[in-house]
Amino acid sequence: MSAIELPGAAGTIVSPRAGGVIPPRASASGPPQLPRIGRWNDNELILILEDRRESWIVYPPRSAYEFVRRPSRDTAIVELHSWMPLVEPQQHPVRPSDGCMLHGIECAARDAIQAAVDTGFDPFR
Ligand SMILES: [Zn+2]
Repeated sequence: MSAIELPGAAGTIVSPRAGGVIPPRASASGPPQLPRIGRWNDNELILILEDRRESWIVYPPRSAYEFVRRPSRDTAIVELHSWMPLVEPQQHPVRPSDGCMLHGIECAARDAIQAAVDTGFDPFR
């Protein structure tokens, strides 16, 4: 029986190549970037996703905005704003039990709701 040598064990010296510049690793393979909060109040939560070049606005049922039309009292409206020119914002009605009423559970609005919850925002109150 021979001992197994582990790569990278103590004593291994890795020297950078002369003149070589190693770019900082992109986080593409890491966990998804957390959205930045643009606004946080009782009427709306604005989440900004720089890497996806979009923003989400969550209008909870308690929102006092009259322009938000919701199909039922417990429905949150998630509005997806792409930063692409000429793309209309999309509204997704989301209920706590059913997910998006237009697209079901597999909808980007679900990510927005989850991100909202992660910030401490209650999207269904
Ligand atoms: Zn949807």
